[in-house]
Amino acid sequence: MGYGESDDKFGMDRRITRRDFLNGVGIAVGTSLVPFDHNWLEAFGLPRSSFSSEKQPDYYPPALTGMRGTTDVAMQAGHALRDGTTWPNPTRDAERYDLVVVGGGISGLSAAYFYRKFVGLHARILVLENLDDFGGHARRNEYRAEDRMLVGYGGTQSIDSPNRWSKHAKALIEELGVDVERFEKYFDRNVDPEPSEWDSVFFDKETFGQDMLVPGRGKLPWQEFFAKTPLSAEAKNDLTRLFTEKVDYLSHLSTWQKKVLLAKTSYKDYLLKFVKLHPAALPYVQKQTYGLYGVGIDAVPAADLAGLGYPGFSGMDLSGPPGPGLGAEVTQRDDSAPYIYHFPDGNASIARLLVRALIPGSAPGTTMEDIVTAKMNYSTLDDPKNHVRLRLNSTVVKASNIGEPNDPKEVEVVYVRGGQAHSVRANTCVLACWNVVIPYMCQDLQRKQKDALAYGVKVPLVYVNVQIRNWRAFEKLGLRKARCPGSFFTTVDLDYPVSMGAYKYPANPDDPCVVHMERIPCGAGATARDQQIAGRIELYHTPFATFERNIRSQLDHMLAPGGFNAATDIQAITVNRWPHGYAYEYNSLFDPNWPEKERPCVIGRQPFGRISIANSDAGAFAYTSCAIDQAYRAVREVTRFNEKKTGEAAS
Ligand SMILES: Cc1cc2nc3c(=O)[nH]c(=O)nc-3n(C[C@H](O)[C@H](O)[C@H](O)COP(=O)(O)OP(=O)(O)OC[C@H]3O[C@@H](n4cnc5c(N)ncnc54)[C@H](O)[C@@H]3O)c2cc1C
Repeated sequence: MGYGESDDKFGMDRRITRRDFLNGVGIAVGTSLVPFDHNWLEAFGLPRSSFSSEKQPDYYPPALTGMRGTTDVAMQAGHALRDGTTWPNPTRDAERYDLVVVGGGISGLSAAYFYRKFVGLHARILVLENLDDFGGHARRNEYRAEDRMLVGYGGTQSIDSPNRWSKHAKALIEELGVDVERFEKYFDRNVDPEPSEWDSVFFDKETFGQDMLVPGRGKLPWQEFFAKTPLSAEAKNDLTRLFTEKVDYLSHLSTWQKKVLLAKTSYKDYLLKFVKLHPAALPYVQKQTYGLYGVGIDAVPAADLAGLGYPGFSGMDLSGPPGPGLGAEVTQRDDSAPYIYHFPDGNASIARLLVRALIPGSAPGTTMEDIVTAKMNYSTLDDPKNHVRLRLNSTVVKASNIGEPNDPKEVEVVYVRGGQAHSVRANTCVLACWNVVIPYMCQDLQRKQKDALAYGVKVPLVYVNVQIRNWRAFEKLGLRKARCPGSFFTTVDLDYPVSMGAYKYPANPDDPCVVHMERIPCGAGATARDQQIAGRIELYHTPFATFERNIRSQLDHMLAPGGFNAATDIQAITVNRWPHGYAYEYNSLFDPNWPEKERPCVIGRQPFGRISIANSDAGAFAYTSCAIDQAYRAVREVTRFNEKKTGEAAS
């Protein structure tokens, strides 16, 4: 694709957002939602103010566009901590809490919820969150098209495999009013019968010699589908063979030997060595695992993909006990469940339901349906009148037990907000932030635990939402969801057809709608961890303008034959950047097959003093259910500690 082409061709001259010179403080189209950002005062040589931006009536982060997710501003204190900055004289907050939670993602909010459940509604809780919005990866993007609200998901997409959720996680969402069965009605299967499948593939000129959108994937017989593509004759032939033939490519091995070999062989090597796929077919399949694993098929074990039903294994009997080191994506997934459990803003609705349950007046309504269109009142989040307070734009840089090491009396947490350090005391603390930051904020931890916490490398990802004027071009070209194996963004999807309560998805092609695009920045040819580190560095150096140019260019190249014109059809862009995205999941190609208690996540999550560790990293499983389960365990740990102390005092 011609990413180097003149910017004007793609409408770059139309400035729909303030761009990365104001990185992370874009303005939503048609609104005046500019958060007051102290860092900009400083950047322009003005003194800081004590003004609390979250209290302003128009503080509404879901409506902000431009570079979102983890913004440059949000990273400042955390990266300064990593680089050795200390904050020796924090100002002590007057309030004292029963629990301080570090991290306002689903795990941190669930921790606050469980704590109140176990200890009582009188418990005083402070949740400190680094970003300017709550929910962590469960992020809402909200747009206005005249009088219509459009909602997209900037991270956590769906409730995955709800039947596999633990009883505590299921109970939590049920108590919040979520009845997953209602999605059978809300998700329009007539429009999207196979929600987890792509219906089209876009071949770009740079990779495949010509721009070509080929619809009918999954509907046409494979031979007919590949015949329409610009792939070479060898690639077409071998891909048709891969997708259709039932051959046992490892017939010389016993079932167990097959499982052992597949656990230690990447899918790419399996295809090349055993299926004898022609290398010309590789560009079609290399990135197929990006969305699920955050790396290509060179870094994903063939055994996992056999378990997930990828092509190449249908002639092979792999029944019986699971092979060594089978990944969590296989062992914890329920493939029989349809992929329909989707709120329009993804699991941001769960985060919003949690906040509504925790903080009086934070959102109107009472149901899982009305939360979708509810406008949250951010000015209520950090109100001294409430038992639970949620403080945004606050990065924790230190958490320590106070008192005798074996019998600490309380916890002190130091956080940076608006460039100033504050400290707060509490009875207990749950760290529901990322494992990787904990060794920096808890210097007293043992080396072994620090190393275990630092072991996993989170997966960098970018979820982009683009508001467009109408989706006639999609309709004309017969596409809802395209895989783009060679392009900057590897998927381009119309938003899921979900209507619930007052929210109606844009069913008419003349309606404005949200297009979702994903970029997974990873290299190829290294371990998954090294690819993720390289991808994160790349993300830090990719400005909003580069994303915008590629969004416009890719949509034009794909959709121009359907009449789309990026210069006039794009109305708003939100780039949700997640340099620390999915929790690291163990991978049999690169990680040992540890016994349960020796897994780094288990060693890393051990409680110390009055501090416990939640977050999906603590379970090495990148799912909402895990974030909730880890919160439950961590809260059990800190409340047991309280109960013991209370019992001792009483006896
Ligand atoms: C793009 C994307 C798509 C996903 N899709 C799905 C999906 O479809 N279904 C699913 O089940 N799961 C999905 N996941 C995984 C799911 O989002 C996570 O497992 C879950 O939301 C993690 O919640 P958490 O609270 O553990 O972590 P997070 O959401 O990361 O929250 C942790 C919070 O801690 C904050 N924090 C970090 N350091 C500090 C500090 N020093 N001080 C204060 N705060 C701090 C962070 O800013 C963050 O907000 C997805 C993840 C990503 C990134």
